[in-house]
Amino acid sequence: MDAHDMGTDLERVLLTSEQIDQRLDAMAAEIDSDYAGRELLLVGVLKGAVMAMADLSRKLHSKVTMDWMAVSSYGSGTKSSGVVRILKDLDTDIHGRDVLIVEDIVDSGLTLSWLLANLRSRGARSVEVAAMLRKPDAAKVEVPVRYVGFDIPNEFVVGYGLDFAEHHRNLPFVGTLAPQAYQ
Ligand code: 5GP
Repeated sequence: MDAHDMGTDLERVLLTSEQIDQRLDAMAAEIDSDYAGRELLLVGVLKGAVMAMADLSRKLHSKVTMDWMAVSSYGSGTKSSGVVRILKDLDTDIHGRDVLIVEDIVDSGLTLSWLLANLRSRGARSVEVAAMLRKPDAAKVEVPVRYVGFDIPNEFVVGYGLDFAEHHRNLPFVGTLAPQAYQ
């Protein structure tokens, strides 16, 4: 699959599936070494993190369990407000657990700040974050993302789990949308 599969919606490919795969190898090795001898609970944030969760988890040699959360950020338009509603909560009691949140992308970081505080308040032993993509604004605020796949420019991206109006999540690469696609 390549850029043509997005038709006229795509502006350019930002990260190829090979680049993503290579980066995930390195992230998984780092996670395995950091959590050696410990059991990790991977928490995927629906729906965007599905691809990252599936690919990263299969590269880990550590003993892991997986759970999922779905959250929705209150706010107008495309900007996150930081006020978050839980649409689907964890099935797991995380008290005393080592938790690694797997995120698709961190933009303002507001959603993630809220999620970190929420999971920490449940008495987890540790809560860290692995984010596939990070935008410049997120690098400025105090959101401790321990494992970052790629720092990307401040553009709207789709693919590898990320959508525009629920489309393009299935693309195996990350691309930027052409302005005419959302105007
Ligand atoms: P934050 O609270 O960090 O501003 O918002 C993060 C959420 O906004 C992500 O989980 C994702 O759902 C959405 N988001 C932020 N930037 C992008 C982007 O470039 N493309 C897509 N498809 N979603 C984005």
